[in-house]
Amino acid sequence: MQYRYVPKNGDLLSVLGFGCMRLPLKDNAVDESRAINQIRLAIDNGVNYIDTALPYHQGASEKILGKALQDGYRNQVKVATKLTPFMLQKPEDMQKMLNKQLETLQTDHIDYYLLHALDESYWEKMQTFGALKFLEQAQKDGKIINQAFSFHGSLTTFKEIVQANDWAMCQIQYNYLDEQLQAGTEGLHFAAAHKLAVVVMEPLRGGGLVQKLPLDAKQIFDTAPIKRSLAEWGLRWVWNHPEVTVALSGMNDETQVTENLKTAQVALPNTLTPNELDLITRAAEAYRRLLRVNCTGCQYCLPCPSGVNIPSNFQAYNDLSLNSDPLPALNIYNLFLKGILTGVRADAALCKKCLQCIKRCPQHINIPEKLVHVTETINQATANKPFDKDQ
Ligand code: SF4
Ligand code: SF4
Repeated sequence: MQYRYVPKNGDLLSVLGFGCMRLPLKDNAVDESRAINQIRLAIDNGVNYIDTALPYHQGASEKILGKALQDGYRNQVKVATKLTPFMLQKPEDMQKMLNKQLETLQTDHIDYYLLHALDESYWEKMQTFGALKFLEQAQKDGKIINQAFSFHGSLTTFKEIVQANDWAMCQIQYNYLDEQLQAGTEGLHFAAAHKLAVVVMEPLRGGGLVQKLPLDAKQIFDTAPIKRSLAEWGLRWVWNHPEVTVALSGMNDETQVTENLKTAQVALPNTLTPNELDLITRAAEAYRRLLRVNCTGCQYCLPCPSGVNIPSNFQAYNDLSLNSDPLPALNIYNLFLKGILTGVRADAALCKKCLQCIKRCPQHINIPEKLVHVTETINQATANKPFDKDQ
């Protein structure tokens, strides 16, 4: 395993971090024993940074991580979890949330405690709640060791937040498709110049740069003289930046864990050649040309009071554009989201435009507006190509 320093405290963190946002599922719930085995497999092979948050898997992520870290695993890792602004009604809730998290995670301290998914409005809310004073006190009490934040706002706000407190770390979305999104490359360099460790989330865009990578982009990678998996290309691009400390991978399959561990050993900073970097840039351009909505599938927008499964609708909408065969996307939309097979509707047409979801979306997608396009586009595609009613 390759390790990189946290400038403010000298911690040596594994470049591969285990993200507990997309744990393996079974019967619509987290497959607990499999998740625990995967987390321990990663730790046994040198991963020492594990990230979770209260909303992940509706609270199950922190619980399962707490169990995974029993039997001597807790003292082998740094645990990161988050204070989630949209779950806080009043300032007193901050202490309650932290206490509950310590209990759920079965630990007496959180190593890296992050203000979660800050953007302009959540940053303002956290300041109004006195969150910085709260973090300082929690640190004095020994309940948290390091103050940090995760971010989904604009570059200007990112710079403001970096300079507003003595953070040890920040967490940003960064991958070869999102170089200019949110904090982006400029934010990465800015944070590193201010001696913050940088944890990267969505290095593979929730599988968007692997399983869901469109054929046009895949064909560009196929021309590379060195054969690498799509995951390896994506992770190597992130770790090629010396300013990146950890890349969080939301691993939910044993082979993914093993493959990423292997890449983490060899993906040293500044090792991609100019030709390889050019290849990745061309693949990103090919992908961008096809993407209809910039949804990463993070599920922060859920639940929707009208029952719309927002990320699944956007996935079907994107898949329609990304894949040459429209049938799989139409089947998912019509049979599952429109409830023909399940009896429960979750399709875009249910949206009542209450706007609740917009504020929660870290990608700042105008969700209700896009859902209108989803309905129109999929209805039209269905009329042109009837879906497979026998599936
Ligand atoms: S705007 Fe539409 S999709 Fe968003 S929460 Fe409201 S009903 Fe659901
Ligand atoms: S719409 Fe936004 S919040 Fe919802 S899953 Fe997609 S990126 Fe996440």
